[in-house]
Amino acid sequence: MNVIVLGAGVVGTASAWYLRQAGHEVTVLERQPGPALETSFANGCQISVSHAEPWANPASLLKVVRSLGREDAPLLFRLRADPLQWRWCLRFVRECRPARVAANLRQIVAIADYSRRSLQALRAETGIEHDNLARGILHFYTDQREFDRACRAAAAMRELGCPRTTIDADEVVRIEPALGGARPRLVGGDFTASDESGDVYQFTAQLAVRGEAAGIGFRYNTTVTRLLADAGKVRGVEVIDGEGRHRVLHADAFVIALGSFSPALLAPLGIRLMIYPGKGYSATYPVLDAAAAPTVSLTDDGHKLVLSRLGSRLRVAGTCELNGYSRALNTVRCEAITRRVRELFPGACDYDRARYWAGLRPLTPSNVPYIGRTRHANLYLNTGHGTLGWTMACGSGRALADIVSGRRPEVAFAFSGSAT
Ligand SMILES: Cc1cc2nc3c(=O)[nH]c(=O)nc-3n(C[C@H](O)[C@H](O)[C@H](O)COP(=O)(O)OP(=O)(O)OC[C@H]3O[C@@H](n4cnc5c(N)ncnc54)[C@H](O)[C@@H]3O)c2cc1C
Repeated sequence: MNVIVLGAGVVGTASAWYLRQAGHEVTVLERQPGPALETSFANGCQISVSHAEPWANPASLLKVVRSLGREDAPLLFRLRADPLQWRWCLRFVRECRPARVAANLRQIVAIADYSRRSLQALRAETGIEHDNLARGILHFYTDQREFDRACRAAAAMRELGCPRTTIDADEVVRIEPALGGARPRLVGGDFTASDESGDVYQFTAQLAVRGEAAGIGFRYNTTVTRLLADAGKVRGVEVIDGEGRHRVLHADAFVIALGSFSPALLAPLGIRLMIYPGKGYSATYPVLDAAAAPTVSLTDDGHKLVLSRLGSRLRVAGTCELNGYSRALNTVRCEAITRRVRELFPGACDYDRARYWAGLRPLTPSNVPYIGRTRHANLYLNTGHGTLGWTMACGSGRALADIVSGRRPEVAFAFSGSAT
């Protein structure tokens, strides 16, 4: 089959890879000059299966209310005259009910766990190196109430088979000695040895190179403007190529992996995806003192920041702003990140040479992605991976390739179709 994948972020590139492995002729269309130059460029880099709790939960609701009006708050919500934002928020509130939280968590853990195994197998097969570290993920807490809540969450995750261990403050420092200076403020943590971290951009760029060598056609600088459909099938896609020429490309099947930009392209077909951009920031610092910078991937839960050591760099990412599609950097938010990291690891990095970045997480209200077929027979979705697109990418791509190939995916997940 000829398959066109729309979008060369980590999800589109992984989908293309597994589709090619399944024997299809694959073309990827991407508006940027290379792969992974939008949301998959400089994220937090955690492969975080055991800390995959969706943001939609009763505690988050409280945090949103508390942070209203605070420019440096980890969660920032600005109401806009945008019906999608309003509908999205109402659904988010619905997904905060305990029964929904439990159901969403089961889905996310299933696909994330499958994905981590798929990533590990793919890495072993291809030899891709992406500053990956399999030293686990450690959440640490400086607020007793947050820690108590985390202990309850950890118990729920253990029931789903995630090996999350609740530990005291001394154990936190034993696992990550770079946190020694922060010891007086620590109240505890929880640790999962099986989680990992690694540079998502390096991974995706190398997978694209290997994919090209295996026969995948990547067309960069190519913007998709419209899907052409009739009689319940997509016939082609309209694109503008790098030279500004309008073209129509045809294929047997089409996969939408456009992250936050998926809903706009699908709306004219009557497919209404509930995906809203959740803008997040990252800062990348050159490491000055290798021993003073963490090597275990960390989550500073109170400040909603994740930290991953990427070779001689330290990546710190977090915050979420529901405020439309702008990727402009807000200096107040950038400085808040650096202030916190400098406070935790003084002297570890060259904080004056921070490289700031912002990306748009393709958030569904539940944080469960859309993977699977739509009501158009040859149109497939692999999008809406929200806060965990890197964690879920390989498993989502592999499962999607199975579905396109008419095979049953190996993972128990409620694949889309019904909602679309
Ligand atoms: C600050 C931050 C921290 C994060 N940390 C983590 C983490 O630690 N772990 C984790 O698992 N996840 C994390 N995420 C989430 C993760 O980065 C995303 O879920 C993931 O990158 C989404 O990948 P994607 O391929 O779906 O989207 P994208 O990477 O956005 O890819 C979509 C592609 O489609 C292209 N495109 C869009 N419209 C068009 C068009 N019309 N024509 C052609 N091409 C088009 C874009 O250029 C883009 O390349 C984080 C996100 C942010 C913002």
